[in-house]
Amino acid sequence: MREPILLTPGPLTTSLKTKTAMLTDWGSWDRGFNDLTAGVCTDLLDIVHGAETHVCVPLQGSGTFAVEAAIGTLLPRHGKLLVLVNGAYGKRMARAVEVMGRQVAILESAEDQPSDPQQLAARLAQDPAITHVGIIHCETSTGILNPLAELADVVARMGRKLIIDSMSAFGALPIDARSLPFDALIASANKCLEGVPGMGFVIARKSALVESRGNSHSLSMDLHDQYVYMQKTGQWRFTPPTHVIAALRAALDQYHEEGGQPARLARYTANCNMLVEGLRRLELKPFLDPAVQAPIIVTFHAPAHPDYHFHSLYEAVREKGFVLYPGKLTQVETFRVGCIGAINEAEIGQAVAAIGEGLHQLGWL
Ligand SMILES: *Cc1c(COP(=O)(O)O)cnc(C)c1O
Repeated sequence: MREPILLTPGPLTTSLKTKTAMLTDWGSWDRGFNDLTAGVCTDLLDIVHGAETHVCVPLQGSGTFAVEAAIGTLLPRHGKLLVLVNGAYGKRMARAVEVMGRQVAILESAEDQPSDPQQLAARLAQDPAITHVGIIHCETSTGILNPLAELADVVARMGRKLIIDSMSAFGALPIDARSLPFDALIASANKCLEGVPGMGFVIARKSALVESRGNSHSLSMDLHDQYVYMQKTGQWRFTPPTHVIAALRAALDQYHEEGGQPARLARYTANCNMLVEGLRRLELKPFLDPAVQAPIIVTFHAPAHPDYHFHSLYEAVREKGFVLYPGKLTQVETFRVGCIGAINEAEIGQAVAAIGEGLHQLGWL
């Protein structure tokens, strides 16, 4: 029996090469390990063409730690962040600002509607206290793609700074720091880069980071301090996630071999199309309009059976070797299936078959 295929967008299914890269113990003072960190950071920066203007600051922890660190470091104590919300991750970003005791406002749209540039412009015109805007690139709670370029354009035109949570899009959807104005872009090792969980990173505008000294409310989450220390010593402050970095190095090598961002997007798009068509044949409909669906994770309406319960579907499909993700919507009963990870159409086809068999067994089809 092979290991289960994770159709959950992080942690996700990683390749054997990525897993075996974790079989070495690295010393945190070791020159070889410092080179590994520096090389990974250079590659991450290059993926968004940011070498001229930005720097990459890695941070231990899950992706949320990096979001919280980016805000805590780059939003001045008396700044105000407007968060564009159309799902759980937008809400989480706003909550992080609240917890650190800084000013926050939200601009909310429905979960099936992308954040709207015109509404953003109106809100910014209305509230001059807003210094920064936070947006979620792909809102993973539904899979919706927000119009990054148009939103960034409004933010820049109205003289504000932009913080982007691109956690579930980085590496697959195109991002170009030479034309997209942002102060921070946040992602993690264990999504479209297909690494393992344990570290996030922030691509920060160098000038903004240099000016951010003393902003952070937290010692361990101070990205300015992390960056300055790393520049000086080549080392992480505090214990680095050595195996996670080694796995990410291997994952990035495979990313480049595959053909980088365009190739990754093409594979995920093929996965997504096959998934949507396959489940449509099982009478399962996607929650989003295809025009706003990112090829990262798809939310499906639950089978219209009175006995439907996600847990039963989960167990039936899990038994066949596939791990589904629960829905994250409050109003409608849904479940989610990820298109990302070291999987292709073969695994997606098998997953569709497993879901079909599971539904038959449960008497829901
Ligand atoms: C995965 C993800 C995060 C981070 O979640 P963690 O569970 O902390 O890793 C943040 N934002 C988005 C949009 C995500 O998809």
